Amino acid sequence: MGSDPDFIVHQITSGPNTFLTNAFLIETSGSLVAVDAMMTVSDARNLRRRADIIGKPLRSVLITHGHPDHYNGVGELLMGLGNIPVIATESVDRTMRRIDDAKEIQWRPVFGEEWPKERVFPDRLVSDRETLLFDGVPFTVRELGPGESHCDLFWTVGTSRQAVFVGDVVFGGVHSFMNDGHSLDWLSSLDVIEKELQGVGTLYTGHGNPGPPMDLVASQRRYLLHYRKTVRNLSKGKSSLSAEAKKDLIRAMKEVLATDALEGFITAGADAVASELSRKGN
Ligand SMILES: [Zn+2]
Repeated sequence: MGSDPDFIVHQITSGPNTFLTNAFLIETSGSLVAVDAMMTVSDARNLRRRADIIGKPLRSVLITHGHPDHYNGVGELLMGLGNIPVIATESVDRTMRRIDDAKEIQWRPVFGEEWPKERVFPDRLVSDRETLLFDGVPFTVRELGPGESHCDLFWTVGTSRQAVFVGDVVFGGVHSFMNDGHSLDWLSSLDVIEKELQGVGTLYTGHGNPGPPMDLVASQRRYLLHYRKTVRNLSKGKSSLSAEAKKDLIRAMKEVLATDALEGFITAGADAVASELSRKGN
């Protein structure tokens, strides 16, 4: 961004118990646009507090993908604000509605009252490559299909494409969530964004730090290739990994990414990827 930016990005990050998740407030001349909305009641309230402190009206919430750490908090974020559009593509909307009950069954016992009682889903659908304007700042959506989730998309923002909000297609220096078992499609999505994000300023990730798009995409590709290769070697064609093999997987992944941040994701997704690799053509 130059000395006269047409928007400012505020990144809000949750604690480790809620997976170091990022949500963003994009401040334009007269308003705010949220990208994602956190998972728990407290994290969403914290995001709302940041919006209230900035003091400009929230104009809409853009959703990057249908995982609850990114959309659960929409209702809490918008509490009392009236009719504010929640925006995603049809496939992301469908994914959210499809997985929502199962996620609640899985996670309410862990988070209790912190799990929002009612989740709010998109009420404005956009098509792939559609551009929305907020205070004259373009926000363009691009849908990638299955990858990190069952349907990913990213938002490119600014007249000179200063920023891109990529959801969890790229993690910023933390371990990756592999549970949805689309690692091969995910690699294809990285090829697409590498081609399309040439010249884009800063890539903002759903977890971890922002950075230069090409560096972060290259790291993500290395991570996925190493994860797939290691799971393939350890699973030997089976659709799951032994407890011992999962320990080896942790060691192997820490060789390509030497951090404990979101380390739990390494083993959480192992069986999903073993299962994916056990199927023909993966
Ligand atoms: Zn996430």
